[in-house]
Amino acid sequence: MNREQPLSRAQRLFKWILPRSWGESMEAESRQWMAECPCGHARSIWEMGGIRWKAAGQPRKLLLCPNCGKMHWHKVVWRGKR
Ligand SMILES: [Zn+2]
Repeated sequence: MNREQPLSRAQRLFKWILPRSWGESMEAESRQWMAECPCGHARSIWEMGGIRWKAAGQPRKLLLCPNCGKMHWHKVVWRGKR
């Protein structure tokens, strides 16, 4: 269940510079933004070592998908509640 990976440099930096409650809200939000591969696989931005906080819109990112093993344009979508 709880197989946490170490934080990326960017994540560590933001956690260090932000007040704790902001850091928690940043992490919670980043975990609910998902990058979806056309093959159906989805991973959260946080899980990929990224940050997405107080952001709007649904950008596309060219990423290597660990599921299908190909570079694909992933749609970044919000999967949480507001
Ligand atoms: Zn894929």
